[in-house]
Amino acid sequence: MNTMVSSDIRGLTEDELILVCQEIGLPKFRGRQIFQWIQQKAVQHWDEIKNVGKPDLEKIRGRLTLEPLQLLREQVSKDGTRKFLFQLADGQSIECVLMDYDRVKSRNRRTVCLSTQVGCPVGCAFCATGLSGWQRNLSAGEIVGQILDITHLMRQEDPEFQVTNVVFMGMGEPLLNYDEVLKGIQILNREAGQNIGMRRMTISTSGVAPKIRQLAEDNPQVGLAVSLHSANDEIRNDLIPINRRYPLAELMKACREYTEATNRRITFEVALIAGQATQKAADEVARLLQGQLAHVNLIPVNPVVETGMARPEPEEIQRFARVLEQQGIPVSLREEKGTDIDAACGQLRRQWESDEK
Ligand code: SAH
Ligand code: SF4
Repeated sequence: MNTMVSSDIRGLTEDELILVCQEIGLPKFRGRQIFQWIQQKAVQHWDEIKNVGKPDLEKIRGRLTLEPLQLLREQVSKDGTRKFLFQLADGQSIECVLMDYDRVKSRNRRTVCLSTQVGCPVGCAFCATGLSGWQRNLSAGEIVGQILDITHLMRQEDPEFQVTNVVFMGMGEPLLNYDEVLKGIQILNREAGQNIGMRRMTISTSGVAPKIRQLAEDNPQVGLAVSLHSANDEIRNDLIPINRRYPLAELMKACREYTEATNRRITFEVALIAGQATQKAADEVARLLQGQLAHVNLIPVNPVVETGMARPEPEEIQRFARVLEQQGIPVSLREEKGTDIDAACGQLRRQWESDEK
């Protein structure tokens, strides 16, 4: 038996699954067939697999496990955004969000926001996930499993349901779980599986500079978003503690290398917090990004009770955007999704935990 291959079938690439089939004496095509059942049809139980004979299926069941995530809670927002709280096999829980865009306006786009860790070791000052500490990394199977279980749930209402876009903006820091995230991306990209284009997946990072460099080298063609929030080291140290390890100069150096190697524009996320979205702060962001192939996405901060942070006034938000525009930086204001359902990731889990106590 090949001990390199894990036993969770949802975390196996198509090639790994073919390898397992060969090891247990099944023909190669079975591997592809079963990959399709698991990854494209998103079946949750072995007996839903129809065109594979029982003896073959028994052999696979003896080698691999198929365990769906357990839905603990679901919230539906007035704007159609849905938030899911899933329980993992070890009892930990994670959140993910489905942003169900208007069918006509955005060509039927269905974006899922995935978690990559249980909790997060970075501990940003404004983030509900960071407040809960860090438990562990998710496996590729758990990362992919979020898409599969959402697909399974949604197909009960709409048999045609298909996720089209993925953002790694849920709980956790994706670049601190680099290998499993990259493996999950490869699995989701497979034509015989979810067939989600590389350019339709975006990794968001708090700024793990060495891993941005590695991403530039591996260049999987996914989008990159950097959570900048402030272009001032002192302020950024307080907001995003990892800035002490990888300060702005080092972060921007990695970003420049990334753009040089991949020719791709980076999205810089800037959360706007009441009292901090000043003209000076906007000027600093504009200065930092001069000459960098960049796009700025402004996000009025989602209030989280424990952080005591609020959104700036609309005029301050407009001024911030204008300052960037005037200095030639492309800027957009994030559409607010699901604010009525605590859409800031980490909030639903915290609420669940306090209800259970
Ligand atoms: N750890 C990664 C990805 C997950 S967080 C990262 O930090 O980039 C995804 C995005 O949500 C980040 O840009 C993060 O800064 C932002 N975010 C977290 N809490 C928020 C809140 N309360 N309001 C607005 N944005 C928030
Ligand atoms: Fe972690 Fe991102 Fe939250 Fe910061 S914002 S604590 S990096 S999940």
